[in-house]
Amino acid sequence: MVQTTRHFFPQLNAWLERLPDTRVPEACTYPTRFLAWWGLALYLFQLSARRQLDFELRDGGAAVRANLNRLAETQQTTLPVHDTLDYFLGHVVLSGWERLRRQMVQRLVRMKALDAARVLGLPVLLLDATGLICFRQRHCPHCLVQRHGKVTLYLHQVLEAKLLGPAGVVLSLGSEFIDNADAAASAGRPAEEVKQDCELKAMQRLLPRLKREYPQLRFMLSLDNLYACGTTFALLEQLGWSCVVTFKEGRTPALWREYVALRGQCPEQVVRRSWRERRQEFRWVKRLVHEDSEGRRWELDALECHETNADDAEQYFAWLTTLPVGRKTVEEIAEKGGRTRWKVENEGFNRQKNSGLNLEHVYSSDPEKWKSYYLLLQIAFILVQLLERGSLLRRLAQEWGRPVWKLFGSLKNVARRLLESLRFTVWAEDWFDAQQAARVHISLDSS
Ligand SMILES: [Zn+2]
Repeated sequence: MVQTTRHFFPQLNAWLERLPDTRVPEACTYPTRFLAWWGLALYLFQLSARRQLDFELRDGGAAVRANLNRLAETQQTTLPVHDTLDYFLGHVVLSGWERLRRQMVQRLVRMKALDAARVLGLPVLLLDATGLICFRQRHCPHCLVQRHGKVTLYLHQVLEAKLLGPAGVVLSLGSEFIDNADAAASAGRPAEEVKQDCELKAMQRLLPRLKREYPQLRFMLSLDNLYACGTTFALLEQLGWSCVVTFKEGRTPALWREYVALRGQCPEQVVRRSWRERRQEFRWVKRLVHEDSEGRRWELDALECHETNADDAEQYFAWLTTLPVGRKTVEEIAEKGGRTRWKVENEGFNRQKNSGLNLEHVYSSDPEKWKSYYLLLQIAFILVQLLERGSLLRRLAQEWGRPVWKLFGSLKNVARRLLESLRFTVWAEDWFDAQQAARVHISLDSS
């Protein structure tokens, strides 16, 4: 929470107060920011399901009300029930949550807290899609429809843009829901005939929006090979952004053959290095030409990393990029631009699915509210990561002579300890003292 105190707290409640764009009815007895914290608590303390708000917080801890009042700077004499949150979310417009997320991320960008993760000076954006909800029966007009043999699945997906920070931090920057909301024309036609929404279409909606929201940032996108196509290259050229895309033979076979042939002709283009027990060899080829399905020609550099570890196990990676690859840049582009891809899976969706954040849980029976719960989760996860990955927790662990994961056993235990603290320890006033907090330097650097 100290991270919150130092960097966000003075603003956070002001941001939360302006959240709903006046759509919360006056009949609702709780102030907006108190209900926003009630919602964030669901994910900050990783409660897994909405009704746990009642069991763990409302009926379960002597200190909860005082601590929530302290967070929200309110004086509530009662606690809401979990249904109050669902009612509240039904009245907060989605753009309110999006604005809150933007305010948080912009603050971190301005503080240069994320700069250590840049590649050639550019902020790295990771794109990845995942399934959110899947049913055997249609439950809303916007479902994606997938046929698997005799089974028809109705699902909702999301494409997420995450900004990479140091120490493994990935901050949600933009979310584009992949569904058939735009397919209004499909009314009256069988689902199978509707031209479905997809990742590439969602990308074309998401990235121009991010350009408008973050005009000062020239992003470098780290992408998987699905995006190695003219649609992506044309869009990025238009936005003035660059990319590193996983390079696989199957996706662009002609380009791969050309790469392999040219690589053999420039054996001097190699950088080798050893790091602990790892040996790495980087090679590259400049100015390959890719002709896309519409006959447009794109000039791209290609690079690869061949890695051998202490057990002689080998790994091979290759990428295409619009960045200038050379002796001085090949390692940085490969390591920080290319191999960061796995972080979206490991630190992003996997973590959100396989923890008390419970991403795939249906938090509301109302499909209109899913998106609100999703955004609330992403916002809370930014705060969770600042706590887990910040130097403050690391220093605390060092005082005990252990790394963070050994002190707590797991990140799950960090969340549980935080919940215990919320329930049973009345948080002292001076923990929230902005002047005192200003004297503590907190960083995300792992150095
Ligand atoms: Zn649906």
